[in-house]
Amino acid sequence: MLSKCSNPGCSARFLYLHTGKVFKLNGDPTAAPKGSGTRRREYFWLCEECALNRTLVFRPGLGVITIARGRQVQAAAAAAAD
Ligand SMILES: [Zn+2]
Repeated sequence: MLSKCSNPGCSARFLYLHTGKVFKLNGDPTAAPKGSGTRRREYFWLCEECALNRTLVFRPGLGVITIARGRQVQAAAAAAAD
């Protein structure tokens, strides 16, 4: 999970914690063991370059995805409207 950048379009490999940005997010709840009632927290990493203009968010049905940083507020508002 932390072997490479979480941006699907980027192939940067995770080598050092001090580069880029590490995110701790809820993984897909449907992937959690049934009846456990707990969402698994997972670590995701964006390389330095991707972290400059992207961030990671969890979207039900999609899992953890990368979005442009400027659209974070907009996306949060859209999610609240669901
Ligand atoms: Zn990257």
